[in-house]
Amino acid sequence: MADPSPLPNDPARLHAIARYLELQLAAVHAALAEAEQRPRWWVQWARRREGEARHGLLHEEGCWHPGEPMLTAQQGQALLAEYGGRILRCEVCRPGQRRT
Ligand SMILES: [Zn+2]
Repeated sequence: MADPSPLPNDPARLHAIARYLELQLAAVHAALAEAEQRPRWWVQWARRREGEARHGLLHEEGCWHPGEPMLTAQQGQALLAEYGGRILRCEVCRPGQRRT
């Protein structure tokens, strides 16, 4: 990674740069919090015979499988933990495992 651009050496300009970066960081944190709250995952429940345990496939936004995002990533992770092997991650979209 390249070195950051050189900084000025006077307090006034350094204060201005610090304030600018604080505002930028706050905006990034706000955008991140909003993105994490947006539903991006859903479960495609399988048909089941009477008495059979519910099971399904978990998908993430962008997958071509049917369904609409209605779970946040946190809710999707909670379902994976709760259902154990009865909810599997889709092998096409691999929710929560894609490189960003
Ligand atoms: Zn999928």
